[in-house]
Amino acid sequence: MKAKLLIAGAALAFFSSCNMGNPLLKESSAPFGAPQFDKISDEHYLPAFEAAIAEGKAEIDAIVANQEEPTFENTIEAMEYAGQTLNTVAGIFYNLMEANTNDQMQAVAEQVSPMLTEYSMYVSLNEKLFERVKAVYEKRNELGLDQDQMTLLEDNYKGFVRGGANLSEEDKALYSKWSEELSLATLQFSKNVLAATNAYTLHVTDSADLAGLPEYVKTMGAETAKEKNLEGWAFTLAYPSFSPFMKYSENRELRRQMWTAYNSKAIGGEFDNTEIVRQIVDLRIKIANILGYETYADYALEERMAKNRTTVNEFVKQLLEPSMEFALKDVADVYAFAKKNGFEGSQLMPWDFSYWSERYQEAEYSLNEEQLKPYFQLESCIDAVFGLANRLYGITFHELDNVPVYHEDVKVYEVKDNDGSHLALFYADFFPRASKRGGAWMTEFRGQSIRNGVEYRPFISTVMNFTKPTADAPSLITHSEFTTFLHEFGHALHGILAQGRYPSLTGTSVSRDFVELPSQIMENWAYEPEYLNSFAKHYQTGEAIPAELIEKIVAAKNYLAGYGQVRQLHFGYLDMAWHSLKELPAEGTLEFEQKTLAPYAVMPAVEGTGFSTSFSHIFSGGYSAGYYSYKWAEVLEADAFSLFKEKGIFNQEVATSFRKNILEKGGAEDEAVIYRNFRGHDPQPEALMTKLGLTK
Ligand SMILES: [Zn+2]
Repeated sequence: MKAKLLIAGAALAFFSSCNMGNPLLKESSAPFGAPQFDKISDEHYLPAFEAAIAEGKAEIDAIVANQEEPTFENTIEAMEYAGQTLNTVAGIFYNLMEANTNDQMQAVAEQVSPMLTEYSMYVSLNEKLFERVKAVYEKRNELGLDQDQMTLLEDNYKGFVRGGANLSEEDKALYSKWSEELSLATLQFSKNVLAATNAYTLHVTDSADLAGLPEYVKTMGAETAKEKNLEGWAFTLAYPSFSPFMKYSENRELRRQMWTAYNSKAIGGEFDNTEIVRQIVDLRIKIANILGYETYADYALEERMAKNRTTVNEFVKQLLEPSMEFALKDVADVYAFAKKNGFEGSQLMPWDFSYWSERYQEAEYSLNEEQLKPYFQLESCIDAVFGLANRLYGITFHELDNVPVYHEDVKVYEVKDNDGSHLALFYADFFPRASKRGGAWMTEFRGQSIRNGVEYRPFISTVMNFTKPTADAPSLITHSEFTTFLHEFGHALHGILAQGRYPSLTGTSVSRDFVELPSQIMENWAYEPEYLNSFAKHYQTGEAIPAELIEKIVAAKNYLAGYGQVRQLHFGYLDMAWHSLKELPAEGTLEFEQKTLAPYAVMPAVEGTGFSTSFSHIFSGGYSAGYYSYKWAEVLEADAFSLFKEKGIFNQEVATSFRKNILEKGGAEDEAVIYRNFRGHDPQPEALMTKLGLTK
């Protein structure tokens, strides 16, 4: 590290001298070279970022200044390893920002953010660097590259090209003009959604109009009213207010008002998004065209497992069409239940569905999580999750007490392979605290890689928010928390078992529509009696979980699965319709949406409503031409798990194949190919239909 720092010259020498003792920049002396959390303090971060960015730039400069002809090694491989110190520092910092943050770190994050943007532009807009990459790319077929090297080269080249590097000066100017307009339009879109959401209040003054609402919803309504200086109760379009109101309110007219307001957000009026949607779509078509793609979907999908819009459009239809009859039956069932229980309308309207499906579920499919909890004691769940990895892959977990941690609640395990060799460090951070955000996630402090013949095994972490045990009560988790645990642990296995070479291509560094396969497949075991019976025992009596409780868990999972699936596919279908356009449609935004979705309607259409104008995932978030990936991942895992169902949920042959073909591979090969290598065929939508019970 010191040798590298010297290249950067005077400015860097200053940093390196005051960074002499910075544990973020020094080789770790902890076991396995693990991060030295015991030595890192908040004041180390900023100087570490400054030094690491300077080092990364110096490494890029050295590649550009190289007098030798560009080769894979002196350009592509050198770029892969440029900025590795920055990756390490950022990896530690941003993980702790989520899991153990404080005011000082927040302040550092604000200072560092523009520095990182500047660094990434230093690389991505570097024309001389691109010239070298292009020179290597143009002779790629004569270089005798391995598969992962070819992927690395192509990823690098495409990264530049997709950012406009190959365009003429004139087109570059257009590209950046449109990109800027697009970012302003998407920003305006989300501002309007927020403003339109906040502009509406349902004001209730008669307590009779609160009929059906649970106490907590009433209290929330009273508090909201107070905040708005209103008498009585107030409900808003923010999800935590809107959703329970629609589920519980017995007042049909108020439900209609709420639903209509929610579904006409940013349509007309002061915060209108109808024209902005068209503007965004138009700019995306222009950008895709100038970069050489027919549609924006082609541009967006090129880097995904699905690859093109034909595949995705067919995929969505293959699920949507057979799901329609089940969705319509779900609606008919809820209607029949509602009729029996006093509903007088001639058909269910969209503002009735949430209310009546909730009553139906309570009556027929109620799953009491409290009843289940005594069977899911955290300690036995941890053993069961590790035990599942052991039964499938032969790996073992050994708790260590000599590896530094960033909080006393964190436990570290050494993961060993079935032959006893070292695989990874696994950090488990299970309990909530003020410095940790909510939710559950997997992350890594170091990914697996091999450099100069030396292999670096990964440091993987999962962060959860389970209830902490006390002196006289153990931690009991819900079945859905247990399922989440399995999900994150699946991501962790993807990191732990990685067997690749280049850091940007190992472990979970795969396409977005593939990354949830290793995690979602693990959730399946949470519904398998054979697995549950092996550990789910009452923590006081030791009694095994009753079979009827397991049956209830499965039934609750598939409740209204047809309706749910069609709802979800509406979003994916509409997203693809907007982004498969070659020019703007003649109709306005609402008309285009209605025309697109009409063949797949399961509820009566309501004039003047729609969701394009508030569809933030695709018009201001990162999911444009990507909403399908939620369902895509479900199909992948259902199809993959069906092989376990067929051969046995602990079958060694299937498990070994899943490990070798999927979990070890990272992103070095085309995901469609590695999937076929495991499953023997392309992902089949029927597998998901079967899993959800949507079969005749
Ligand atoms: Zn996930």
